Amino acid sequence: MTAWGGALARAERGAVDVAEGARLLREAPLFALGRAADAVRRRLHPDGVVTYIVDRNINYTNVCSCGCSFCAFYRGKDAPDAYVLSEEEISAKIVETIAAGGVRVLLQGGLHPDWGIGEAERLVRAVKRHPILLHGFSPPEIWHFAHQSGLTIGEVIARLRDAGLDSVPGGGAEILDDEVRRRISPRKIGWEQWAEVMREAHRQGLRTSATMMFGSVESPEAIVTHLLRVRALQAETGGFTAFIPWTFQAGNTELSRDPRFGDAAVPGFGHALGYLRVLAFSRLLLPDVPTVQVSWVTMGAKVAQIGLFFGADDFGSTMMEENVVASAGVAFRMSEEEIVATIRDAGFTPARRGGGHS
Ligand code: SF4
Repeated sequence: MTAWGGALARAERGAVDVAEGARLLREAPLFALGRAADAVRRRLHPDGVVTYIVDRNINYTNVCSCGCSFCAFYRGKDAPDAYVLSEEEISAKIVETIAAGGVRVLLQGGLHPDWGIGEAERLVRAVKRHPILLHGFSPPEIWHFAHQSGLTIGEVIARLRDAGLDSVPGGGAEILDDEVRRRISPRKIGWEQWAEVMREAHRQGLRTSATMMFGSVESPEAIVTHLLRVRALQAETGGFTAFIPWTFQAGNTELSRDPRFGDAAVPGFGHALGYLRVLAFSRLLLPDVPTVQVSWVTMGAKVAQIGLFFGADDFGSTMMEENVVASAGVAFRMSEEEIVATIRDAGFTPARRGGGHS
């Protein structure tokens, strides 16, 4: 066993504390992390299959009262470019998606100050008039609908599920540490509320993903805290199907202009090598989450391809439409053919996935 082997094995068993985890994340040799993550990936996916999905993001509104400083997507209600998609517009997008072989819609939007459960249910029913899976409403949206309509989280999830919601995306997690959240999204729900929504969704039989946005102002300790919290929740519910770490995109965001951004404790985690470290460490620390997904949308095809050797087994989605990251000025694009060729060139077997995780 290498000098780092004992610590890496403890990480996989979940037997590291935040300090030891942060030391690994910061100092373990990149290839030692990669090898350990790859061993977990091989154990969980011995067939060498790398999945992806043909789907479409639909961002039903960019009106949002939350105002997160890392977000370039949201608008005030009266902004000239504020929008709310009509049911007809949404239907047209779905028809196009199905015609292109799409099997799922990822529906997410801002926290519209006039929206409650009624609007959300109408939206779900409009989507489910079509033969397509609906992966929708991250925890802050679900919390918002509950707050607006005076309902419990359980009641909101039950109504959305009854209207046809199939699964829930793990967005809005950013870093599950309230100190970081106070700095980058002070009006967004705290980590325990995020966990409460997920716990309830899992309890009601909905599967969800979990995400992590890193590379802004968080410390390595906060990243480890996030991963340990997802791990603990998974041990409790078993409801997470995939983990998706992705990097903060600074372009056009308020946070990128904030002088505090300059003191990010881990310069480099938002770049290719930092990304691979965090990706591998995530795979290692979350062996009970079946899938870890690369983020080609933020890292590009080449880094995503290398990510397949650092623990990832899923290439995400063809993203027929992506507005949120694109608002920050990042515009990686991949067709299905490119995704398939990228997976194959790395020596893996590409396979379309039918639905499920994000
Ligand atoms: S990240 Fe989501 S909640 Fe925050 S401002 Fe953007 S749209 Fe609103």
